[in-house]
Amino acid sequence: MDTLTFLGTGDAMGVPRMYCECAVCMEARTSGTNNRLRSSVLIEGGNEHWVIDCGPDWRRQMELLGLREMRTLLVTHPHFDHIGGLPEWADVCRWSGYRGQLYAPAEVIPVIQRQYPWLGGHIDMIPCDDGLTLNGWDIITWRVNHGKNGYSYAYRLSKNGYTWVYCPDSISLGPEETKHMHGADLLVLGTSFYHEEAELSTRSVYDMKEAAELLELVKPKQAVYTHMSHDVDLRKSYSLPQQVTLAVTGMKLPLGG
Ligand SMILES: [Zn+2]
Ligand SMILES: [Zn+2]
Repeated sequence: MDTLTFLGTGDAMGVPRMYCECAVCMEARTSGTNNRLRSSVLIEGGNEHWVIDCGPDWRRQMELLGLREMRTLLVTHPHFDHIGGLPEWADVCRWSGYRGQLYAPAEVIPVIQRQYPWLGGHIDMIPCDDGLTLNGWDIITWRVNHGKNGYSYAYRLSKNGYTWVYCPDSISLGPEETKHMHGADLLVLGTSFYHEEAELSTRSVYDMKEAAELLELVKPKQAVYTHMSHDVDLRKSYSLPQQVTLAVTGMKLPLGG
């Protein structure tokens, strides 16, 4: 059975934030329960492994797991916290003598190319709007509202009757955007805050209170919240739907059964 590993579970700025001395950031600097690298997941099965999103903590995430190779990547959207590690990956591809395979929705690829024009020397960028198959996973992707930050994409992955969805950056999703989430075995959802006070028009990611309403609608068997800011303290117990777990960096889940 394949396994899912949370390489990072933080929001765009990670935890701790350098300027911040809040209780969560201070704890993240010491015992470190709340230390959160930028959000990314690793999928392993057989002798294969691949990753969704490659933020600025990517190299450290690979080193922490002792991984020396990454040939395949899926990208949800071209924000720094999801693509900031691409130049380092391209360098790995260069010195390892293989071309990386980067799958992303077609509209995302030119944004990556503008940001890092030299990546094409070492990485193939392959549009995946019509879906793809990776190591036995049937994968589809669709565009989701990312609030004031524009749009991101979610991925739904199915293998041997098990279906899970990865959607780290989204908010206020409508019926078209949630239709592929219904009845998933696992929904991995970004929730930056427990309850974010800021005006909705200024926000870009679900909070946990809104996420509970989404879960009520799409009814995943299990849900894991990720992409969490320093608002979330893993030492606290929050009032959450019973199928929810808060992701911890390094946490592993079986993708099946
Ligand atoms: Zn993000
Ligand atoms: Zn803080």
